[in-house]
Amino acid sequence: MSNRKFKTEVADLLHLIIHSLYSNKEIFLRELISNASDAIDKLRYLSLTDEKLKGYSFSPRIDISFTEDGERKLIIKDNGIGMNETDLNDNLGTIASSGTRKFLASLSDDQKKDSNLIGQFGVGFYSAFMVAKKITVISRKAGEEEAWKWESDGESSYSIESAERQEQGSTLILTLNEEGEQYANRWELENLIKKYSDNIAYPIYLEYDQVHYDNEKKDENGNALKTTEHKVEQINSASALWKRPKSSIKDEEYREFYKNSFYDSEDPLFYIHTQAEGTNEYTTLFYIPSKAPFDMYYADYRPGVKLYVKRVYITDDDKDLLPTYLRFVRGIIDSEDLPLNVSREILQENRVMVSIRNASVKKLLGEFRKISENNPELYSKFIAEYNRPLKEGLYSDYANRETLLDLVRYKSSTEDGYVSLKEYKSRMKEDQKAIYYITGGKEEVLRTSPLVAAYREKGYEVLIMGDDIDDIVVASIGEYDKTPLKAINKAGALSDLKSDEDKAKEEAKKPVAEKIRKALGDRVKDVVISSRLTDTPAAVILSDDDPSVQMQRLMKQMGGEMPEVKPMLEINPDSPVIARIEKSDDEDFIAALSAVILDQALIQEGVMPSDPASFAAALTKLLSE
Ligand code: ADP
Repeated sequence: MSNRKFKTEVADLLHLIIHSLYSNKEIFLRELISNASDAIDKLRYLSLTDEKLKGYSFSPRIDISFTEDGERKLIIKDNGIGMNETDLNDNLGTIASSGTRKFLASLSDDQKKDSNLIGQFGVGFYSAFMVAKKITVISRKAGEEEAWKWESDGESSYSIESAERQEQGSTLILTLNEEGEQYANRWELENLIKKYSDNIAYPIYLEYDQVHYDNEKKDENGNALKTTEHKVEQINSASALWKRPKSSIKDEEYREFYKNSFYDSEDPLFYIHTQAEGTNEYTTLFYIPSKAPFDMYYADYRPGVKLYVKRVYITDDDKDLLPTYLRFVRGIIDSEDLPLNVSREILQENRVMVSIRNASVKKLLGEFRKISENNPELYSKFIAEYNRPLKEGLYSDYANRETLLDLVRYKSSTEDGYVSLKEYKSRMKEDQKAIYYITGGKEEVLRTSPLVAAYREKGYEVLIMGDDIDDIVVASIGEYDKTPLKAINKAGALSDLKSDEDKAKEEAKKPVAEKIRKALGDRVKDVVISSRLTDTPAAVILSDDDPSVQMQRLMKQMGGEMPEVKPMLEINPDSPVIARIEKSDDEDFIAALSAVILDQALIQEGVMPSDPASFAAALTKLLSE
């Protein structure tokens, strides 16, 4: 026998589970049954595909029994793939999923108490220690002779030794603690199995002793005669929900199925069930979680879609079943036409799979669009969680760009909440040539930009794109419904608002622009005259082909060499501050004032003056004059 210590992360997880999920401890049974079902899935799959296990025949089942007398025990037995010594050590001594590990590390102390958060990832096997003071696992791997016994009290260590088991599979024996005693009970177990595991595809049998009292017959003390009958009863309905006719499935059943299959304690926002017939026969059942999955922005996120072929589980670990930007979708794809032994490499090029995938994306995006049109309240909840991945889709999924353009939402200078491009277009002024937007900083900073104020004054709406991926994405959009998109903080938008009168004024004001340009030297690319600024003396803009400030920051973070991008200064010819420069021929004064105007414009964009000392000196000089 060998004794081993849990990896520290397991000890942490155990502690966390016991303290945060306590009020919901009954979920341990769901977790163990789900593991048993996974183990059967694996063996069924291998018996169809694996060289060594091909033709391996068994009748999948899960058996649950308990003892009421003396020490109370709960026993969960499956005839799935089983575990050998190495598996037991790897699977029950460490946390296998790196996503789970990272998630745990990222939680604050407060979050650790939030059972909804904890419940989001599969807490799994270890949750059984909430109700058990000791767990014994006896397991034999399919195709191997030797069986093994793993045992632990869930404190800090576990033991593994050689054991006996007739058939492949695992038996879990939970020696219940005080809090767990209630589960050694027929009604309690029946209830929980129905509640959480009704859709498990394999039969779950419950063994119990049924007691009868026969009043007709008396025992020696004159009491009704007591007889006990040992019963084995199937509790779950063991049918794949998604294969049942849609009309026969209740909303409640859809939601329970989601919560039990995808580890979410909350109801999904909505679901989409498709049973396609014809040349390509398949079923999909997709769910949109009400909260974005915790690992949505991790590179090693867990994919949310499980693939089945004719109800046989194939994989839940294929990131290509849907495009990456739809990684928040949970659900099932079940194909009638794929070969059972489809390998992962072939899957991506398989004609059937490609067509299911394309149809699924169309279906999902189409439903999103319907909801956006018919149920704004639901859609705004959806957007609050998933606007960003949809934006990723805008630049990665060219085929569905039109639909995606209708789905994404932006903040606006004139409206509350989020607006769509379609809404924006419907509000455009008659003479308006473009959809105006601003990027390059946080929403709050962008909102206070003098350029936004200038457009508002003239009655133009501006989309406030404060999301850090907006910069990259919006540049690739180009136009929406034949209307170009223009960044108001780039030079290209300047001419749009110019009248003939403005052009004449621009001619007249060239000398002052030149004065400022000379004073600022190589700090700016150019100084141009504005026809849009109203209250403020100046604003910084970029020339059309320069990356925005945000983009520059991003490229620096990614370690790229960034040549310094110089801003253009747009000056307001009607500002009294600019007029002072116009009238002056004191070069020191012009230099100081020009520098302050530029720095002030930068500050308004959220950029610190590059040389605070000379900014302060110039300001002091001006104030003392
Ligand atoms: P998860 O199921 O989320 O991977 P668990 O902690 O529940 O996490 O289980 C860890 C691993 O132990 C599983 O991934 C599986 O490989 C293995 N395992 C657990 N229960 C069984 C079982 N009944 N039969 C075979 N393997 C099992």
